[in-house]
Amino acid sequence: LKEYSENAEINKAEINSEDIGVICGGTTYLYAHEALGESVSYFKIGMIYPFPDKAVIEFAKKHKKVFVIEELDPVIETQCRALGIDVIGKERFTLLGEYTPALIKKAVLGAEIPDDNCLEESLPARPPVMCAGCPHRGTFYVLKKLGLTVSGDIGCYTLGAVPPLSSLDTTICMGASVSAAHGMAKARGMEFNKKLVSVIGDSTFMHSGITGLTDIVYNKGANTVIILDNSITGMTGHQENPTTGYTIRGEETKQVNLIALCKSLGVEHVVVADPFDIKEFERVVKEETNREEPSVIIAQRPCALLKRVKYSGHCVIGENCKNCKMCMKLGCPAISVKDDKVVIDKTQCNGCGLCVNVCPFGAISKED
Ligand code: SF4
Ligand code: SF4
Repeated sequence: LKEYSENAEINKAEINSEDIGVICGGTTYLYAHEALGESVSYFKIGMIYPFPDKAVIEFAKKHKKVFVIEELDPVIETQCRALGIDVIGKERFTLLGEYTPALIKKAVLGAEIPDDNCLEESLPARPPVMCAGCPHRGTFYVLKKLGLTVSGDIGCYTLGAVPPLSSLDTTICMGASVSAAHGMAKARGMEFNKKLVSVIGDSTFMHSGITGLTDIVYNKGANTVIILDNSITGMTGHQENPTTGYTIRGEETKQVNLIALCKSLGVEHVVVADPFDIKEFERVVKEETNREEPSVIIAQRPCALLKRVKYSGHCVIGENCKNCKMCMKLGCPAISVKDDKVVIDKTQCNGCGLCVNVCPFGAISKED
């Protein structure tokens, strides 16, 4: 690899000047090019490890001044200094935030670029939302309705923290939903525990939730853990995981049975429930949180973006709508208010049907 890195085309030098050489990579290379053009030379690092020592030393020798331009920590800069190259780096560039061509031009040449990219009107806020048809929406709708304390985890479902669902109370790191809730329950006692759940995705549970659940059983806890089983690893781009039955390369393999796994850890109450069946899901959550023993609810419904999930048609709001805005509480991107009336945007709705189950007046129906 070291030999490959020294000669790889992705680690390339562009010699334009003897005065200034710039070592950079990724977006900072593009920003530097935009800011400095052909007035400087570039060493574009495409493979940072193993570091192309000889190639970088050769590049540095050809220039009077060498800058390292990289966002955040001085990783390339540290490598260069370790090789004895006298570079200019973080003494000119901030450790924080994203760089811009203007920032780079000022740091390297001392020149200002007028900031003429500002729009006169401010853009509407576009907070991140769960997708139309997202299975997690039903879970968080119920948890919010019941006013539970929700110990959250890392995944697309972390979006359950933002309005209008506003359900997650904590998100610390992978697996912490289970272990933090265990600690909360031990510290606050059984009555608090009956108003507390952990939520963790299927792949995160496999990654680092099993140990927390084992501890709950071992330490005589009584937590309720909700495994958000959407049959895929959503947040990072639909990777398979041990619960899906396919390897990361898409080959069939053994599938972990979540029910059997949780039972094998000593959890006696393991229930599978559909988060789109709002009434039943609410009943299950109430029943399991009321127990004075550990329990697991597997909230099972596949991610709406999986190819095999084929919702059809779209939903429409009928004349009997009372404009109560209950359906707005789902935070579905297809539902909005226009001229003070709730409307469903057909182009965004995928016909998942969740809003039909939420409207108290039966005003929403499906159309093909
Ligand atoms: S929940 Fe039903 S009645 Fe209320 S605004 Fe939505 S469609 Fe109308
Ligand atoms: S509008 Fe209703 S049916 Fe359409 S995607 Fe949203 S929740 Fe699903």
